[in-house]
Amino acid sequence: MVLAFIEHVAGAPTMLSLEVLTMANRLAGEMGTQLEAIAIGPNAAAATGILSSYGVSTLHVADDGRLADYAPAAWAHAIAELVREVDPDVVIGTASDRGGEVMAHVATRMKLPMAANCTEIAPGDPFTVIRQRWGGSLLEEAHLKGTIKLLTLAPHALTAAASPSRTEVTTHAFSPALDDKDFRVRLQPQVEVDTGKISLAQARVVVGGGRGVGSAEGFAALEELAGLLGGAVGCSRAVTSLGWRPHSDQVGQTGTRIAPDLYIACGISGAIQHMVGCRAAKHILAINTDAGAPIVAQADYAVIGDVQKVLAAVNAEVRRVKAGEPSRSPA
Ligand SMILES: Cc1cc2nc3c(=O)[nH]c(=O)nc-3n(C[C@H](O)[C@H](O)[C@H](O)COP(=O)(O)OP(=O)(O)OC[C@H]3O[C@@H](n4cnc5c(N)ncnc54)[C@H](O)[C@@H]3O)c2cc1C
Repeated sequence: MVLAFIEHVAGAPTMLSLEVLTMANRLAGEMGTQLEAIAIGPNAAAATGILSSYGVSTLHVADDGRLADYAPAAWAHAIAELVREVDPDVVIGTASDRGGEVMAHVATRMKLPMAANCTEIAPGDPFTVIRQRWGGSLLEEAHLKGTIKLLTLAPHALTAAASPSRTEVTTHAFSPALDDKDFRVRLQPQVEVDTGKISLAQARVVVGGGRGVGSAEGFAALEELAGLLGGAVGCSRAVTSLGWRPHSDQVGQTGTRIAPDLYIACGISGAIQHMVGCRAAKHILAINTDAGAPIVAQADYAVIGDVQKVLAAVNAEVRRVKAGEPSRSPA
């Protein structure tokens, strides 16, 4: 059996967890076994509706009010206890900060090896994975040993896809024998901040700015384009180091991994540490004065020119099109 550890918000699985479910469902099919899931935290049982579209037969819900707050050791305790009870062949979670932390605790508790940040998984003997190392700048083939295979799936290693057929999901509530020591690290309280903006990780369009934008004020043109396209603004680490944008806007190895339909990289050189954060973008448009910049070679489209001049023209054109006025571009 394949067991997927699902992260969710009030029963709605996160995008990364839907990717995990897609991979887990595929894996269960290849192994000729069934897929079950575990979810922890408030309203976990509400996930059954969505899980039925991902081939899940049983949703295990840890039933203890103390698990409502994120507590990595306690969550791992619950998962490890369930794993001992149901004896899966594979346990897979997301390689998010939280997923990686909990799965590492599970591995330590159960004295099992774990493969983190996998992008491809081939069950069999040997059980083979391709996994990201060095923040995604290196791919490694590894053979995973251990009676139970513990894995995390790299963000955006595949596209989440619900199955057209639905399964009947049985809910199984269980009460792990938690210890006070499990709660020595506990996240509380959690404050929801509504910025009114689309999150970088979820945006379909991201307009990213680098040192070539020139100043914090120079981001006004990027903000305008993102607003016109219903997207979000991101940036490179050079920009956060300069204090032009907050770290929460940073794309890359030490920032957010994005997977938009379109990434517009403005005045960004395309360093490897930046590219690992945007390589899941379906299309990349680079705007750069240097035709030899690495980003230009990696982009689907490039405009060679000054970012402020190019964006002024692009924004004016998008505004015109949105207003239903005829385009001024040559026919
Ligand atoms: C351990 C580690 C982790 C890192 N993590 C990250 C990370 O998460 N994210 C990240 O981004 N970086 C990261 N970096 C830094 C990374 O190596 C690069 O230094 C950084 O991405 C460069 O930012 P940049 O492209 O904005 O600046 P630069 O490299 O200075 O490039 C600026 C670009 O702007 C162009 N330009 C200049 N003027 C204009 C203009 N007027 N119009 C148009 N184009 C113009 C230039 O031709 C150039 O291509 C990391 C580095 C390390 C060592």
